[in-house]
Amino acid sequence: MNLMYVSTRDASERVTASQAILKGLANDGGLFVPMEIPKLDVSIDELSRMSYQETAYAVMKLFLTDFTEEELKGCINAAYDAKFDTETIAPLVSADGAYYLELFHGSTIAFKDMALSILPHLLTTAAKKNQVKNDIVILTATSGDTGKAALAGFADVKGTRIIVFYPKNGVSPIQEKQMVTQKGDNTFVVGIHGNFDQAQTGVKNMFSDAALAEEMDAAGFQFSSANSINIGRLVPQIVYYVYAYAKLYESGEIAESEKINIVVPTGNFGNILAAFYAKNMGLPIGRLICASNENKVLYDFFRTGTYDKNREFMLTSSPSMDILISSNLERLIYRIAGDDAAKNAALMKSLRDGGSYEITPDMSAQLSDFYGNYASEAETAAAIRDLYESTGYVIDTHTAVAASVYQKYKEETKDTETKTVIASTASPFKFTRSVMKAIDVKYDSMEDFALVDELSKIANVKVPQAIEEIRSAPVRHQSVCEVEEMPQVVKQFLGI
Ligand SMILES: *Cc1c(COP(=O)(O)O)cnc(C)c1O
Repeated sequence: MNLMYVSTRDASERVTASQAILKGLANDGGLFVPMEIPKLDVSIDELSRMSYQETAYAVMKLFLTDFTEEELKGCINAAYDAKFDTETIAPLVSADGAYYLELFHGSTIAFKDMALSILPHLLTTAAKKNQVKNDIVILTATSGDTGKAALAGFADVKGTRIIVFYPKNGVSPIQEKQMVTQKGDNTFVVGIHGNFDQAQTGVKNMFSDAALAEEMDAAGFQFSSANSINIGRLVPQIVYYVYAYAKLYESGEIAESEKINIVVPTGNFGNILAAFYAKNMGLPIGRLICASNENKVLYDFFRTGTYDKNREFMLTSSPSMDILISSNLERLIYRIAGDDAAKNAALMKSLRDGGSYEITPDMSAQLSDFYGNYASEAETAAAIRDLYESTGYVIDTHTAVAASVYQKYKEETKDTETKTVIASTASPFKFTRSVMKAIDVKYDSMEDFALVDELSKIANVKVPQAIEEIRSAPVRHQSVCEVEEMPQVVKQFLGI
């Protein structure tokens, strides 16, 4: 029997996994969730002998039940190949009493590659299975990393177009350069005069615009999403938590069924939700530690039970976490509301209308798996410097938010014994300036690429291919628009 997916806002909207991947977002604006979380059906011992690709199959087959073995293995093998600069795909590095799970060895050196290198294959396979004739138009709002990873994944994939909107002044120079130099005849990159939340809201509005959908269909197109709301991104992200656990077991760091904590630098709540799903599959996970930067809306939520986005939007040195509406949190809210779509829909309406909602004490009581905290800009920089000075290991700004919050967690809870994995979500080379400035302010006077070479020297790590590529690449995308103009821009690009 197929595992079905249901909208978090309408219990009557049920689809298969492949349909959920194709649609991205449910008709009512809700997110698709599996009707139940499947349990791992292989032992940790067996998992510890598996490659990343084999682990991916063991996990994903449980969620994507309407894909055949051949289809799913085809997608996995096409995704996790030599695009990654290490055969282990997601290596664990031990430093200062924690295990850093390096999720940045893919083609754009951020963790988004873990899911976005497989999503195009899942999507085109899903289109074939469902006899879709239209070309798929991927519409994406990005706070920096998703955009490039999606562009890299979809560039020149037949039957697809990809349009990426990013906040013109809200991404790092290297992030912007990576996007605007993107090759591929089916790619389109637009800066907007606005922040990430406005870009994301603009995209969501287009997804739920019935008139636009009709116009698109008549011209032979349909939208899909590569944002982390797509179940085709969430499921591949569960894999690396299972893999990390099995590798810790294999190397004797943990005993069978010993609980580990997981720290995740969080923005849209996709990565940490994947860890939550892994826990619900039976993986022995203790606390899920949700680390925020100065946009600490999630920290406040975990402390108070009120989610309130009515606050100043901060631009920080961890731009991929500069988010006030964490979309994937809706999947957790739905869950702690007892899978009650009506209850969740009411809370989301309150968020849309007034910018906030409050959960009941009953719901709060189910959040004990989570611990939330945040790191200020100064604390983030200190985490980079301290780790570098004590171990020589260099982490990026996002990972540093997590490292800093992990210290706070240990101080506050006295839980210093539980082995802990920190999701390392970007290569320090992606945020070179902030990273080098944190290590020593003297570096701030150097040019971007000189800094890259200096980082390579002090960290004793080769400059990643993704950075070498953009040193001299020509700019191919220069469009900029207002938030209100987003639908026109899309139509223009598609020639309708
Ligand atoms: C996207 C991103 C995050 C946040 O992940 P979410 O799944 O949105 O919570 C953290 N760090 C980096 C480097 C990212 O690109």
